[in-house]
Amino acid sequence: MNSEDINAVARLLSKPQKIVIIPHKNPDGDAIGSTLALWHYLKNRGQKAQIIAPNDFPKFLKWMPGQDQILNFEKENAQSKAYIDEATLIFTLDFNHLGRIGQVEPCLKESDATFIMIDHHQAPSDYADYMYSDVLMSSTCEMVYNFIEFLGDDDKITPEIANCIYTGIMTDTGSFKYSSTTSRTHRVVAALIDKGAENTKAHNLVYDTNTPNRLHLLGCALKNMVILEEYSTAYITLSQDELDTYGFQKGDTEGFVNYGLTLHGICFAVIFIENKDEGIIKISFRSEGDFSVNEFARKHFNGGGHTNAAGGRSDVSLKETVDYFSTLLKDYKTQLNP
Ligand code: 5GP
Ligand code: MN
Repeated sequence: MNSEDINAVARLLSKPQKIVIIPHKNPDGDAIGSTLALWHYLKNRGQKAQIIAPNDFPKFLKWMPGQDQILNFEKENAQSKAYIDEATLIFTLDFNHLGRIGQVEPCLKESDATFIMIDHHQAPSDYADYMYSDVLMSSTCEMVYNFIEFLGDDDKITPEIANCIYTGIMTDTGSFKYSSTTSRTHRVVAALIDKGAENTKAHNLVYDTNTPNRLHLLGCALKNMVILEEYSTAYITLSQDELDTYGFQKGDTEGFVNYGLTLHGICFAVIFIENKDEGIIKISFRSEGDFSVNEFARKHFNGGGHTNAAGGRSDVSLKETVDYFSTLLKDYKTQLNP
């Protein structure tokens, strides 16, 4: 964020505002961690602030300090709309185009609040008045830490804020192992532990939350894995029937896609998950090295994300989606076998 924008935001925050903070749809650890951290910080500064999530978030995040205050736009629609109508300042976190917030999009388009984006995805659109966008950042949580520091308030990072930021950095970096993890990320994490982040607790509460059903669903997913050595690709499918058999709960499939990449010689991993309620196939893409799943998802599956982690969707059946995907691979053979 340049110093002009920092000064402008500092001026805005020096006056009382009605603030709404919005993460992307199907919020993950980084989206929930960053919105909660910012919420605590703004509340502690005496601002009125409300987080509105487009929809529900996984149970393994429902221990984070302040999470019970988050409104679910789908379920608490009238209340959420009233907050957005009244807002003077809207922070959008961990996404960079309004198509990522589902049903909240038309409401935001009508708002005349000042918009501030904090985000680390590629190709931001230009809806925000102030934009802190940096694709080199490990996570939006690391950016919220920087944002608080830009405002000269690192001494205002409480244990609650530290725990929220720590958790989002942990989940978005695959526990500090993805290439987006820099020495600065580790310095931030070290400072967070000094400020009260409980690292072991966060790890246990997020990752040691398996149920027998989830492990059986993982077994099913791994059994369904198709390995296409020719394209250095592995993909998994999960049908709605399979999800139902194992009592699928939101968040249960988190991390499944990564198993493909643990195979020697595989640099492109994909999971296709049928969602009959929404009538779509939700797709997650992961890669190792230079192959940009962001470009692939953007071009073929109405999605996007980062170079090595992206998502998208398809409106045709699971089988048709996988068939289409398989035909696309032929055009990427040289990129996938460098
Ligand atoms: P995941 O596969 O874990 O849902 O998402 C991986 C990354 O891609 C995340 O950074 C997420 O924000 C982004 N992403 C997931 N789904 C979509 C999508 O439909 N559109 C866009 N633009 N990004 C997505
Ligand atoms: Mn993120």
